[in-house]
Amino acid sequence: MSNQAHTFKGTIAVLTSGGDAPGMNAALRAVVRGGLDAGWRVFSIREGYQGLVNGGNFIREMSWDAVGGIMHRGGTVIGTARCKAFFHREGRRDAAFHLVEAGIDRLVVIGGDGSLTAADLLRREWPELLSELVEAGRLSQDNADRHPRLAIVGLVGSIDNDMVGTDMTIGADTALHRITEAVDALASTAASHQRTFVVEVMGRRCGYLAVAAALAGGADWVLIPERPPEREDWEVAMVESLRAGREAGRRDSIVIVAEGARNRRGRPITAEYVKDILEHHLDEEVRLTILGHVQRGGRPSAFDRTMSSLLGLAAVETLIAAKPEDEAQLIGLRANRINRSPLMACVAKNQRVGEAIEKQDYGAAMEMRGAGFSETVATLDTMIRALPRPPEPGQRRLRLAVLNAGGPAPGMNTAVRAAVRFALDRGHTVLGIRNGFPGLIDDTIDDLGWMSVKGWGTIGGSELGTSRSVPEAGDLEAIARTLADRKIDALLCVGGWEAYQSAYLMVENREKYPAFNLPIICLPASIDNNLPGSELAIGADTALNAIVDALDKIKQSAVATRRCFVVEVMGRYCGYLALMAGLASGAERVYLHEEGVTLDDLKSDVDRLVAGFEGGKRLGLMIRNEYANDCYTTRFMVQLFEEEGGDLFDVRQAILGHLQQGGDPTPFDRNLATRLAGLCVERMVAAVESGCGDAVAVGLRQGGEAFIDLSGLGEMIDPDFRRPAQQWWMDIRPQVSVLAQPSP
Ligand code: ADP
Repeated sequence: MSNQAHTFKGTIAVLTSGGDAPGMNAALRAVVRGGLDAGWRVFSIREGYQGLVNGGNFIREMSWDAVGGIMHRGGTVIGTARCKAFFHREGRRDAAFHLVEAGIDRLVVIGGDGSLTAADLLRREWPELLSELVEAGRLSQDNADRHPRLAIVGLVGSIDNDMVGTDMTIGADTALHRITEAVDALASTAASHQRTFVVEVMGRRCGYLAVAAALAGGADWVLIPERPPEREDWEVAMVESLRAGREAGRRDSIVIVAEGARNRRGRPITAEYVKDILEHHLDEEVRLTILGHVQRGGRPSAFDRTMSSLLGLAAVETLIAAKPEDEAQLIGLRANRINRSPLMACVAKNQRVGEAIEKQDYGAAMEMRGAGFSETVATLDTMIRALPRPPEPGQRRLRLAVLNAGGPAPGMNTAVRAAVRFALDRGHTVLGIRNGFPGLIDDTIDDLGWMSVKGWGTIGGSELGTSRSVPEAGDLEAIARTLADRKIDALLCVGGWEAYQSAYLMVENREKYPAFNLPIICLPASIDNNLPGSELAIGADTALNAIVDALDKIKQSAVATRRCFVVEVMGRYCGYLALMAGLASGAERVYLHEEGVTLDDLKSDVDRLVAGFEGGKRLGLMIRNEYANDCYTTRFMVQLFEEEGGDLFDVRQAILGHLQQGGDPTPFDRNLATRLAGLCVERMVAAVESGCGDAVAVGLRQGGEAFIDLSGLGEMIDPDFRRPAQQWWMDIRPQVSVLAQPSP
């Protein structure tokens, strides 16, 4: 292979290794396009380290188009492998030879901790390997001198989410989608026959998938490696809990077992064993389902596409900025932002988690997994209870009310169910207000018991009923009366803009209506993701996945024609869904209200489309936020492109409409809803007990979950366009553009 790097700034390569993971293709695409955009030559290595050892056709130069149309595919299009030869120095020497031969001394490795360890080993040995190659006469000294160091950047591809240094690994969210779909399906058949299902999920050393799936799927018991059951006779506790659930009215029972589940003494607990125990002690049929490789496969979720794309771009940026003396870096995600850390420190820490589990030091293992994991496990402990704990003697029983307001957002029911169960478990009473604020005005309110919210965790829509109506000044008297008559101690409003607006109205009128001095808490639920105080609202992930599903189909429909689609997505004045859908689907252009649309923009878009189709392009995808511009409507854009496209391409519009609001919530939305609801209940109880009329909104913010004061809402929003004044995702627009089309 000749080295033609003179027209490039340098040469980089990328490989995928170890277990495949959905989202690897999006990362690959971003590395290739990011590299080319920065003026570097990019190679891909086929079949992981085996390709490096083999060289030749396994190392191939990549073009912009070579990574087109791959993002929606599971697995990795460049192949992955477990390579025995790489464990030996000769294998790694061959690998170094083939890299230098192709002029490559910068490498992105996408894989699990084994693959990343291997990458660092190659980096450390590199100078010696090159000397050996020179000595053996395989490499000239000159060529070796041109590549004194190997720079490495790692991305973690692993469905298990088992890596320190990133909140999420590539593929984990998709695997969770697969497991949750399976658990939902099993739950419905289990409920029909009053059966128990034992479900084995992946995770030899990491219980993330089991715990997250149990929380999302409303499972009744879970067994994981990091936290074996407390009791020696845990089998009895499990059987008792499932039996109590049945007696309380549960029709389906689901037990989730991670592959690596174990007891306190380190002995494996197999799914088969759990099934036998349950079959023996519960007088009913128990079925075992081992999900196996289904969990690894299939189309990547929206999150795995967007995160992996951003990680891939950050990897390239880090790699081409790397200095010879730099250690290998790991690029991950921390609190919703790209994060760089020294790769080997992360790998070493990860190995310590495994060692702690082996040594049966489960406390240390849990601690090293991080606070988020422990909190999720603690949340699960409450959610899987068959019935609430009885109230403490003499405890004050608070009356907490909950409502949904604003447009429907998948996950609203999950939040209400979690709030009800957390509150009842702490000995309080929960009142469900029907149909949003109108229900508070009309006093349409029911007591919500433990089993009244059964099954709410997994269904879309709003079982309580929601309404976009905001109270008028004349309604406040009625609201104050309901609050007083019903002796409501605190109010939780799960909803969108109208929920926040109504809560704010109550806070503003506290002097006039003393009944409004109760704690009022808002929990963000809106597919538009346009709420202040939270980077993500419940429902947005589900809507985004619905959009991405639809876009995959729309793109596929155009195989035989040269066609451009203009797709209109929801969001009102907030461009979050449009931008993220553009990133996840590889759209050429995204139109946002935040940026505006000008005639010049449209002119240059037309020129680009024409040039693209003239150059052999077969498909164009433009995504337009519904309110991007009043004049340049979706229809207008379609007509404009159609007219200018002439015979070169035709244009179709697709207005996705309400399918974006519907559907069952994604695992992410379910688990976010549950976590936030738990925090809200804690906060409401504390506020009532301390007598403070807290008025806050919970949210996911930099550094974790936090509350903002509702009285400061005015400064945090753009009232004309009903969106936050600052929107974090606006910062990723340049990355979206880089990936969309090659710079002219
Ligand atoms: P994962 O990356 O998913 O953890 P593996 O542990 O199987 O998967 O590693 C993938 C490949 O990386 C191995 O087949 C081998 O080629 C290479 N590899 C892993 N660990 C090492 C090591 N300690 N030394 C050399 N190569 C290794």
